[in-house]
Amino acid sequence: MALVTKAVKGTKDVLPKDVYKNQYIEATALDIAEKFGYKEIRTPSFEHTELFQRGVGDTTDVVQKEMYTFDDKGGRSITLRPEGTAGVVRSYLENGLCNETLPQKICYIDSCFRYEKPQAGRLREFHQFGVECLGTASPLADAELIALGTSILDTLQVKDLSLEINSIGCPTCRAEYHKALKEYFLSRKDKLCQTCRERLDRNPMRILDCKSPVCSEIAKDAPVVIDYLCDECKEHFEKVQEYLKAMNIEYTVNPKIVRGLDYYTKTVFEFISKSIGAQGTVCAGGRYDGLVDELGGQKTPSLGFAMGIERLILLMETQNAPFPDENVPDLFVVALGDKATLKAVEIVKDMRAEGFTALLDLNQRSVRAQMKYADKLNAKFNIVIGDNEVETGVAKLKNMTTGEETEIALETFVSGFYNISLSEQLADLEINGEEFDFASLFGVNEE
Ligand code: ATP
Ligand code: MG
Repeated sequence: MALVTKAVKGTKDVLPKDVYKNQYIEATALDIAEKFGYKEIRTPSFEHTELFQRGVGDTTDVVQKEMYTFDDKGGRSITLRPEGTAGVVRSYLENGLCNETLPQKICYIDSCFRYEKPQAGRLREFHQFGVECLGTASPLADAELIALGTSILDTLQVKDLSLEINSIGCPTCRAEYHKALKEYFLSRKDKLCQTCRERLDRNPMRILDCKSPVCSEIAKDAPVVIDYLCDECKEHFEKVQEYLKAMNIEYTVNPKIVRGLDYYTKTVFEFISKSIGAQGTVCAGGRYDGLVDELGGQKTPSLGFAMGIERLILLMETQNAPFPDENVPDLFVVALGDKATLKAVEIVKDMRAEGFTALLDLNQRSVRAQMKYADKLNAKFNIVIGDNEVETGVAKLKNMTTGEETEIALETFVSGFYNISLSEQLADLEINGEEFDFASLFGVNEE
């Protein structure tokens, strides 16, 4: 196929007929985050390469293998953002948000770019809903962050997710742990992939996250960081669990979770599904107490998570989770002739002003073709206007589901439409599977 009509490998169009799913997930996530005090930020899609090298960590897979990096025409090294946190922290420092009341609670919907092997649930451009809570060391913040993730996934009615948590300690306890890890991997060095052999000296923890089958097999029996936690980290982790229990949030401790980005400290967590194969993590995050000072700010304990929107959609589709109905037109006006078309223009204008979705045929086709079009669009009601209707000022409003027709005056179309559509909706209303008794609501005795 010609390149001009082919999307780049690993990228995906969301077609107009499907976009309501993305919109639903995004609106739900933003809405719930707002209830936890988060405000949205919008940062650029690209940053100085150095930000990610420093922020994500230059021994990570993301930086070593997956970044879209190029020189712009001014000779700057630019990278398309592979994740959202580094950019948010950059903006937090640059714009002085660090001087406002802490914690700063910030959320975002970002497109992210990673040069990975495309497969189900793994794209080269994907989208994340993420949150960052900057400026709190309290274990209550860790628990509340997890509660926020739980609340979003529950509201979206995602099922069979397991929440796995771990603590990967702080630089103090990690020194001991790195020693033990190095010792373990040194005796198996020959079998490790080239990248991991190089990681052995600088950052042996990264080997635990390597996707190569041989490395991950070796990593299975490696020492786990949770056995090396210092007193402070141990206590922090216990407190987080105490709060999670108080919040009735189920979790398991999985000592194998380390996360793929360098900046994490203490609590890390993932929401994992078994229903969509290997790419089962739909939400992941944790604490990053060292990132803000790594990027030049004051020491600012912080934490956050990101959800993969495409993965969530995939999972929700697999589970037949409920998406709201796609928006369909409330009214389609079929118009025949010039006068009728002018009347139709007036009607759709008035209807839209009242918040309805109202359409007419821009191509002014035959009545039959317009009817077919209205049908295709799943319009709830239609109305046919010809010379006769313009003259008498009366037309028939047809409910396209039931076929029921009701006369309606064109002069007062919108209020007529309200009356007819509302009374039909009320008649259809069921509450808990039972027809709702309106008479009783208004205290009307039916007899
Ligand atoms: P994985 O282990 O699957 O590669 P990760 O640890 O690299 O994930 P994070 O950097 O934590 O992922 O990103 C947070 C979330 O973003 C992931 O849990 C996932 O839902 C989503 N995500 C990450 N990479 C991709 C990708 N290439 N395509 C689609 N979604 C992704
Ligand atoms: Mg990855």
